[in-house]
Amino acid sequence: MQRPNPRALNKAAAVALNEGAGGYAGRILAGELRAVARAISALEADPSFGRELSSALWRSTQRKPRLGITGSPGVGKSTLTNALIALLRGKGLRVGVVAVDPSSPFSGGAVLGDRVRMAVAEDDPGVYIRSVGSRGSLGGLSSATSGIVQVLEAFGMDIVLIETVGMGQTGFDIADISDTVVLVLSPESGDGVQAMKAGVMEIADIYAVNKADRPGAGALAAEISALLSPVEKPGEWQRPVLKLCAKQSEGAEDLLAAFNAHREFVSEFGRTEERRRHQTANEIKFIVEGRVKSILERSPQRDELLALARRVIAGELDANEAADRLLERIAAQI
Ligand code: GDP
Repeated sequence: MQRPNPRALNKAAAVALNEGAGGYAGRILAGELRAVARAISALEADPSFGRELSSALWRSTQRKPRLGITGSPGVGKSTLTNALIALLRGKGLRVGVVAVDPSSPFSGGAVLGDRVRMAVAEDDPGVYIRSVGSRGSLGGLSSATSGIVQVLEAFGMDIVLIETVGMGQTGFDIADISDTVVLVLSPESGDGVQAMKAGVMEIADIYAVNKADRPGAGALAAEISALLSPVEKPGEWQRPVLKLCAKQSEGAEDLLAAFNAHREFVSEFGRTEERRRHQTANEIKFIVEGRVKSILERSPQRDELLALARRVIAGELDANEAADRLLERIAAQI
């Protein structure tokens, strides 16, 4: 397993930023591990490096199967990821893992990626695990996340697992970069069914009730199935509710089978393109929003914004007129 340490990561980012993204694409495609580590650090540190690298990579990178794994803290996502890694390695597949951490100063425990790392053989070159901060919001992805997935695919990973603690709360999340999303629940987490009622239900493609060895797992699975059945439409993907015991690696094989079945279903019904179009549109929107936001935070737009706010307060303009003026300024900037 490839495991860069944090100090080395900062140094790696500095080296890559200094060298520029240009030469990195070829080195990543050629399978040079050090280039992967450095490029990922650099794209996290500097979005413009990420942009340049992505443009250099995208024509030569083949998209690989991507499984999104989400669920509340403690439901067993890291344990499940470890079980999946072992299973996939047993099949001879190379596995990339991106663990998206909410980067909360209050989270206390080890970050997701570290918990996955603990169980993976140190010297296995067929596994590459990387943690990335989220934008602080539960479920949100940072702009670096899709860049990291792309680098892992270009590096030659056969499958990419993306792990997050939440979904559906922001404009761009795990459902936008995964082929299939599995929502992991456990009888202890308690919030599972509530979260589903709150709308997360629409997004997951597979439900996995983990900790099947604990009391309440069967009842939770039944409850989820009952919640799902009224929304199932004929000709639509029938979302399976699986029971797992990740700690004993039980059910990981079923989950992989459901993942493959979902991907096959989507492509069989000609929905792959539709799904990708929707995902890509979301990503483009997310990039545009990010750029507009950063333009607004820079001067002279920032000063203009404050000046407009003063005029709104003085009753010279309303907020919508002020927004129109600012949008005109931004359009001129782009
Ligand atoms: P995450 O926060 O969702 O990544 O959860 P972890 O994978 O760190 O697991 C949280 C706790 O649940 C750990 O103590 C695991 O050992 C435990 N756990 C994970 N899977 C199972 C399981 O199938 N059965 C039981 N009883 N405990 C489990």
